[in-house]
Amino acid sequence: MLTLDQATYDAIVAHAKRDHPDEACGIVAGPEGSDRPERMIEMVNAAGSPTFYEFDSTELLALYKEMWARDEEPVIVYHSHTATEAYPSRTDIGLASEPGAHYVLVSTREHGNSEGPVEFRSYRIVDGEVTEEEVRVVPELPQSQSRSAS
Ligand SMILES: [Zn+2]
Repeated sequence: MLTLDQATYDAIVAHAKRDHPDEACGIVAGPEGSDRPERMIEMVNAAGSPTFYEFDSTELLALYKEMWARDEEPVIVYHSHTATEAYPSRTDIGLASEPGAHYVLVSTREHGNSEGPVEFRSYRIVDGEVTEEEVRVVPELPQSQSRSAS
């Protein structure tokens, strides 16, 4: 199950809507081993495409160095689909390299330029196998000792 706070949920949805009709992508980092998505980083879709996303390799490397320095890991890896359902494509599955991460898919296909609904779903992707999981949105993440300054 993925548990995230309302503000992070809203920010991911807002990013997906803003980049529509191109796919948006990003990462929400959290303290290592905590499973707490605390720090959202909007990434550039290097593909700039309505049907594909690709992290910019330089930006991704810089982010991983930063997370390493802060004892963080990617808790959520998210991207949007703008014309299809919120389910990982074969390409997405092939690129999924974080077995510990929650892969969030947001679909803005019903959204267009209006205020239509979006789909928000989360998956584990391990060795090419996709398992959907429940998404729980809470007002705020419960306090924890390992919470880092933000
Ligand atoms: Zn995709």
